[in-house]
Amino acid sequence: MTKRKINIAIDGHSSAGKSTMAKALAKELNFVYVDTGAMYRAAALFCIKERLVESNEIDSKKIDQAVDRMYIGFKYNPKTEQPEVHLGGVNVEQEIRSMEVAKKVSLVAAIPRIRHKLVELQQRIAENGGVIMDGRDIGTVVMPKAELKFFITADAKVRAERRVAQLRVTNTDIQFDDVLNNLVERDRIDSSRAVSPLRQADDAVVLDNSQLTPEEQFEFLLSHARKAMASE
Ligand code: C5P
Repeated sequence: MTKRKINIAIDGHSSAGKSTMAKALAKELNFVYVDTGAMYRAAALFCIKERLVESNEIDSKKIDQAVDRMYIGFKYNPKTEQPEVHLGGVNVEQEIRSMEVAKKVSLVAAIPRIRHKLVELQQRIAENGGVIMDGRDIGTVVMPKAELKFFITADAKVRAERRVAQLRVTNTDIQFDDVLNNLVERDRIDSSRAVSPLRQADDAVVLDNSQLTPEEQFEFLLSHARKAMASE
């Protein structure tokens, strides 16, 4: 019988580089990577398309009724070698990265029925182990028993600079202040919501990567992962 692989939870502030690190670790260790932020972004896109979030007001009653029609899942893309998020069977991996979605996602992610549906799906994916999942409530709510938990953060300006560089690859109109304000605002909403707020798990390994190169950060995470795998 093969040994069950461990699960690894990566939480932290917006644009702290969690998904870049999670993807690299998953590749190195041959684990499945699950981007839960992409699932909440797909939920926000669903609400935008269904006109359930017009301004900064959300109609949570209407959203509650619409949730049963919201189909979110992942399909592996052999070209990118990554699972990509689908909404109603359509690949929305690119569409969910827009500023329009970024501006609405934290409002949508605070709705209990949306969280309930997505957390259930995330827990099913993690059931058999071998998963690296990144988000905001992974170590506290989705996988409280994960064998290894990280909490990643960095100075807000450093995070905004990195995010701008990423977004400018496809959109030259991106403004630094817009990105900085958006990530500070998302952190505020994510940390103060009633249901599963962004919080560091008591047993998480904390990493502030403001001064680290991606390589240094990767080595740090990998050494913890190898230790956790060896002790299982
Ligand atoms: O990780 P990413 O920045 O793409 O996440 C987008 C948004 O989705 C976050 O700002 C947060 O509002 C929400 N989210 C969440 N819980 C998670 C993952 C993401 O509420 N586990």
